[in-house]
Amino acid sequence: MKENKVVFVPCETYQQEDVNYAIQEMFKELGGLQQYIQPGQKVLLKVNLLMKKPPEAAVTTHPALVEAIVNQIHTLGAQVIIADSPGGPFTKPWLKGIYHETGMEDVAVRTGAQLNWNFEQEDFSNPEGEILKHITLARVVKEADVVISLAKLKTHGFTIYTGAVKNLFGTIPGLLKAEYHLRLSDIRDFSNMLVDVAQFVKPQLNIMDAVIAMEGAGPSAGDPKKVGLLAASANPHALDLACCYLIGIDPKRIFTLQKAIDRGLIPDNIQELNIKGIDREDFKPIPFKVPVTSHSRHLPIPLPTRLDNFFYKILRPYPYFVHDKCVGCSICARNCPAKCIEMVDNRPQADLSRCIRCFCCQELCSYQAVEIKRGKLSKLIFK
Ligand code: SF4
Ligand code: SF4
Repeated sequence: MKENKVVFVPCETYQQEDVNYAIQEMFKELGGLQQYIQPGQKVLLKVNLLMKKPPEAAVTTHPALVEAIVNQIHTLGAQVIIADSPGGPFTKPWLKGIYHETGMEDVAVRTGAQLNWNFEQEDFSNPEGEILKHITLARVVKEADVVISLAKLKTHGFTIYTGAVKNLFGTIPGLLKAEYHLRLSDIRDFSNMLVDVAQFVKPQLNIMDAVIAMEGAGPSAGDPKKVGLLAASANPHALDLACCYLIGIDPKRIFTLQKAIDRGLIPDNIQELNIKGIDREDFKPIPFKVPVTSHSRHLPIPLPTRLDNFFYKILRPYPYFVHDKCVGCSICARNCPAKCIEMVDNRPQADLSRCIRCFCCQELCSYQAVEIKRGKLSKLIFK
């Protein structure tokens, strides 16, 4: 089993001096950044840049955190590349606007870090994978000597929670992610694939931006929620287990955690994690509102798989397009893995019989024009 140490440090605001101080404390508690990075190495910071949103929207990793970490890495004589393959195509025009709006462009100017403009991809054999025996990654990831993941703590319409492990899905280039959604539409298989990706990328360090997190209709349409913490671990699964506890989500509902437990990558309970930097008695859940999707796979009574699948089909939520909010950009239609959204009179219409309920449309809509709805029976069962 990999190391289970998880460090939490308080960080009340995104004021640069507060974040700098918290980061220094965090690295001290971890035993020093130099244990992960040697002078002259190329360090990739895998940030979460889901979409073109300003930092205060709490959708993306905050630039103050990125800046503090870049500066620390530079003091060790290493180079930094800031990278992500967010939703949508992995191309220069797409990334340019995102780097600008999320504040990454400014961080690069101020610190001298590079933004990634390499859009090549590469295939690798992954014999240890349970789902992915071959894996395609953005080449920049494997060219780096060290990978540090900087995730954002948020709820998620499909996976309920997104943190350290889900952040690494952004090492898969562009629209290939949609193919994985389509091939692995069952949340259990999809989650096991995410564990494969995390195990293959193996970041040396995983850091969680939980100063202002997101609850409700995450990962892009939820509400910012103050947590006031940064967290870190060499083990992304341990970090996720600790963060799920922190936001009051039962780990049994998070299939990436269940798969990691099954694979012996983490213990099956929070008590066995080695929590540092915060007193155990102060480490209490701050309950988050979770997306409506979270009910769909959890009937009040356990049923045989076939019956469970039957009820799942009836009770599962569905995407609902709010045409008044929609601006007709067609990003949802172009990125729908099932290709079941058609633009009619400049507004999206989904063929729900083909919809795989991945909720990529909700995730990628910048205008909060996609909601996740439930039918009457579902509402009756899951009050
Ligand atoms: S629902 Fe959102 S993503 Fe889809 S066309 Fe409308 S504004 Fe664009
Ligand atoms: S309509 Fe939305 S939820 Fe359904 S498959 Fe397309 S992107 Fe996924």
